[in-house]
Amino acid sequence: MTREMVLEAIKKERNFQDRKWGSLNIRSHELGSWLLIMEHELKEAKDAWTKPGYEADTDVFKEIIHVAAVAVACLEQHAPSNLQGHSVG
Ligand SMILES: [Mg+2]
Repeated sequence: MTREMVLEAIKKERNFQDRKWGSLNIRSHELGSWLLIMEHELKEAKDAWTKPGYEADTDVFKEIIHVAAVAVACLEQHAPSNLQGHSVG
C-alpha cells in the first residue's frame, strides 16, 4: 500500500467519523478525551490482533486507520496552526 493510499484511507475514515458523530463544531472534545478515544481504538486493534486468522489482521489494519483518523480530528481541533508546514518529529 502506498503512502497516498494510506492517507486516502485515513481521510475516508475521518469523513465517515464526521458523518457518524457530527463535525468538530458539534462534537469537540478536550485534549484528554481525544487521547482516551485513541486509546480505545488502539485497544480494539490489540483485541483484533489476538484473534486467529487472516481476518484478524484485516481488523487490526481497520482499527489502526480508526486510531489515525481520530488523531487527525484531535490535531484539527487542538494543534496550534504554527505546526503547519513544519516537521514536528
Ligand atoms: Mg474502531
